Amino acid sequence: MTADISDLLSAIHNAERSYDVSLIVKAYEFAKTCHSDQKRLSGEPYITHPLSVALILLDLGMDSSSIAAGLLHDVIEDTKTSKQNICETFGEDIAFLVDGATKLKNIPLHTQEEQQIENLRKMLLAMSQDIRVIIIKLADRLHNMRTADAWPEQKRRDKSLETMEIYAPLAQRLGMTAIKEELEDISFRYLDPIAYDEITEVLKQKRELTRSINFGNKTYIEYIEQKVYDKVKDMVSRVKISGRIKSHYGIYRKVYMKGKGWDEVFDIYAIRIIVNTVLECYSILGAMHDMFTPIPNRFKDYISTPKPNMYQSLHTTVIAADGIPFEIQIRTFEMHYVAEYGIAAHWKYKQGVEKNDDLAKKVAWIRHIIELQQEAKNTEDIMNSIKTDIGSEEVFVFTPNGEVKSLPVGSTIIDFAYLIHSEIGHKMIGGKINGKIAPIETKLKTNQVVEIITTKSASHGPSRNWLNIVKTTEAKNKIKSWFKKEKRPENIRGGINELKKELLRNDINLDESEFEEFFKPIATRCQFNSVEDFYAAIGYGGVIISKIMPNIKKLYFKYNKNESRPKFVFQPNNFSSSTGVVVEGIDHCLVSLAKCCNPIPGNNIVGFITRGSGVSVHKTNCQNVLNAQKDEAKIDRFIPVYWQMSSNNRYISTLHILAVNNDEMIFQTTSTLSKLNVPISELNVKFLENENIKIDVSIFIHHVSELKEVIWQLKKLNGVISIDTKS
Ligand code: MN
Repeated sequence: MTADISDLLSAIHNAERSYDVSLIVKAYEFAKTCHSDQKRLSGEPYITHPLSVALILLDLGMDSSSIAAGLLHDVIEDTKTSKQNICETFGEDIAFLVDGATKLKNIPLHTQEEQQIENLRKMLLAMSQDIRVIIIKLADRLHNMRTADAWPEQKRRDKSLETMEIYAPLAQRLGMTAIKEELEDISFRYLDPIAYDEITEVLKQKRELTRSINFGNKTYIEYIEQKVYDKVKDMVSRVKISGRIKSHYGIYRKVYMKGKGWDEVFDIYAIRIIVNTVLECYSILGAMHDMFTPIPNRFKDYISTPKPNMYQSLHTTVIAADGIPFEIQIRTFEMHYVAEYGIAAHWKYKQGVEKNDDLAKKVAWIRHIIELQQEAKNTEDIMNSIKTDIGSEEVFVFTPNGEVKSLPVGSTIIDFAYLIHSEIGHKMIGGKINGKIAPIETKLKTNQVVEIITTKSASHGPSRNWLNIVKTTEAKNKIKSWFKKEKRPENIRGGINELKKELLRNDINLDESEFEEFFKPIATRCQFNSVEDFYAAIGYGGVIISKIMPNIKKLYFKYNKNESRPKFVFQPNNFSSSTGVVVEGIDHCLVSLAKCCNPIPGNNIVGFITRGSGVSVHKTNCQNVLNAQKDEAKIDRFIPVYWQMSSNNRYISTLHILAVNNDEMIFQTTSTLSKLNVPISELNVKFLENENIKIDVSIFIHHVSELKEVIWQLKKLNGVISIDTKS
């Protein structure tokens, strides 16, 4: 659609802030006159381009000067007008912006690349003085790319490449995500149309696949949106929920460049939840983790630790009952504006109130890039340094021989050692930064000279703790493979110990003697040849227990329900056993006292499951019992039994239950107790600030085993975090 001045004026009219309309109209008239004899490649009058750029700037919330400069941005470059002319008519401020956005002409340079570098240098310098220059350039580039179909093929590809390498990363560094993603997707479509279409096609298929009757004939994302809305609408005063699908280029990077499977991209679908306050963000996070199953290690708190480009949000990845993972982003309305518009939000929200100094701090990295590339020797180095510095969040360090190495931001001396060579890493005992000894976990900064101190001792190796310190996958893999190779017995032992710890934490009661039988199927499912290999893998960090814990739990409950749950089951209230003996795990069964030893209350007793006449109760020291216990075939038929407590002999015990506050929790607790015939004497509920609740319930019970059973049954309830009997 071709832009017209009336579009701009009505957009200005609808904007939330006031603009200097006469200045903008004056700039429009000026530009229109200058460009009057020019047409775009599409055949439209040239002025439509600056007008569209001005509209983009307005949409970003930029000020009147920026919009005027947007209208004038091509005047110096493409017409006979000079910077001086603009300065006389519009003042220095606008003249600076227009000049900053203007390419250098007639520079005596040979190659196109040198030209590109000089222009880039000029642009960076101008933007380091006034950041609005780059915002205007980005708006200019965005409109050019939106209309690039009119360009010849070669120009399209050149501009796409430049956009991908320089403008999109610049937008990213400035936090202007919406523009960054659009620039990337357009450029990507020109650079690799086949991959682009493939992704479109897969997304289309996925959309149809997930449109299902279960979701009320909605697509998956619409269904999740609705579900989330229903859950949070009463929690907060104002909420906006939107579903989104990862950008084409975002998918391309993961699937095509990083070689991940489509199923490994957990954030193809995302739900954004936007609310008023930070507090609400966190309470909604709790509600989401309550509602869906969170994937471990995918939670990121960019609210307490914003990204360098000012982005703030809570991120978590969860799985709904239907098994499709999706990302949830939770943020406030203000954070959302910054997330979409980045540095431009400065003009929208602060409207110039914030001091320019603060803004300068936020873009200090631009100065750094300029300084860095001034030291570089040849054009190729300059280009590379600009591209890498803008594009990726990397640090560049030197070996003592002056070789440059690049590592992701946050890398340590250990990462550096492994980058040089595995053996250097394995034999490292210390490191130096710029000639001074530094702790090996020190994070590296650009321009440091890093030296590794190694030992010749053959027995030296990495520490397991390094796995928690290193940043790069490369170092992690090399350390893991060292442990895998060098330390098998230790790994097996370590793996078993770690499993024990985790099982304990999860209330899974499994003796080490049962391990082999229990973990065999899990080891097989994880593609290990033996259970030992499986333990060893846990030991060296190749298998993360928390990832397989859900399976372990599932298996355990299955295994446990069927056979050996060593628990007490209640006698119904009307139970009156003539024998006065209670059999663990069995209701209403036929019980007889064995004639051979005639046990009486107070004796230590054990039950034996007879063929056809129920459980016979013996003294534990009965000779028949001792004989039968030597018999392999009979050993499984013994079962614990207790003397029944007198029904008058109840006592009160108080349980302190900490649980996630889902609506059902209190009801579930009381109904579980009532099913177990446990009378309640008192119940207190406290709602905690972190969305949890504490239920203190006093109950009448007969026996400690009964109490244990109550706790066991309550712990099975969804949402129970812990139960204890001490206050
Ligand atoms: Mn332009």
